[in-house]
Amino acid sequence: MPNSTQSLLADLIEKGLRREPPDRDELLAVLATGDEQMMEVVAAAYRLRHHYFGRRVKLNYLVNLKSGLCPEDCNYCSQRLGSQSQILKYSWLSSQTAAAAAAAGVRSGAKRVCLVASGRGPSDRDISRVADVITAIKQESPDVEICACLGLLAEGQAARLRSAGVDAYNHNLNTADDRYRSICTTHTYADRVRTVEKAQNSGMSACSGLIAGMGETDADLVDVVLGLRELDPDSVPVNFLMPFEGTPLAGTWQLTPQRCLRILAMVRFAFPDSEVRLAGGREIHLRSQQPLALYVANSIFLGDYLTSEGQPGQGDLDMIADAGFEVEGVEQETLPGHRRTELRLRHRGAGTDRAANA
Ligand code: SF4
Repeated sequence: MPNSTQSLLADLIEKGLRREPPDRDELLAVLATGDEQMMEVVAAAYRLRHHYFGRRVKLNYLVNLKSGLCPEDCNYCSQRLGSQSQILKYSWLSSQTAAAAAAAGVRSGAKRVCLVASGRGPSDRDISRVADVITAIKQESPDVEICACLGLLAEGQAARLRSAGVDAYNHNLNTADDRYRSICTTHTYADRVRTVEKAQNSGMSACSGLIAGMGETDADLVDVVLGLRELDPDSVPVNFLMPFEGTPLAGTWQLTPQRCLRILAMVRFAFPDSEVRLAGGREIHLRSQQPLALYVANSIFLGDYLTSEGQPGQGDLDMIADAGFEVEGVEQETLPGHRRTELRLRHRGAGTDRAANA
């Protein structure tokens, strides 16, 4: 390994341990490392992953509450306006059906359920629907974390979701501001930033990440990561494009397993103490190298994605065990102490149907 790469990685580890942000050139240099330096890059990212998250892997489970038929035109999305993808299309699941889907994920070890609905953003009625789904889920799994992903939020909706028991809100920045229009014309990067800020201001934990493999340059990837850093999300999903037939990005296969690992490592150096989630596209792009990604990311989705099938849940659990990692339990905190708020909103005792803490 050239001395320059050695010292780059040593500096990134030192900065990560001090929670000091890497600079743009350092992140670009990680993406420019060669395949022959792969293991050193992964090992350096692992130093930070292990320091803040040990050998734990957090499992998240997606429930697609409403699938397809979206009026927005995100090029990467199988649910977009005019999509010819042969995906499932349905309107809102009943609370009972959604809760049953969530329970399957929780039984397999998921500690967070991500409730997702296609669309530009929720109506007030949709927020009530999500509240009903949360009530139904919590009857069976009172301790499960709830993340909502419902699109752009209007004024007041974040607070309503928070009151309904939503712990986190997902809204990805996806790609760099400068090229946002090349992947979507119906909303802007700034719209997305505003929604993440609304979620944070309401007290929800922000989950916001990116999609790689859409024709972007290294500079674009670093730009979106630096944009995400300004928002300081608690979790950062890293998606690798799933080029669905029937969407404008069909046939876009630009990623190698090594490229995916470099991107993940770059994100870890930028977010040493945030949850870095290996998200959509891991099976098709990392393929046999998926276990290596666990040395960088501390979180994955279990089972299926919104409109495509993931590898069998048991396969994920076996992969985690075989690689010597462990599934994070509900009693374990995901984030290191310095990132957690000491103020916890009460959701038990008086005014609830849960036992008091006494
Ligand atoms: S990403 Fe969301 S907003 Fe964009 S087309 Fe897909 S479902 Fe609609």
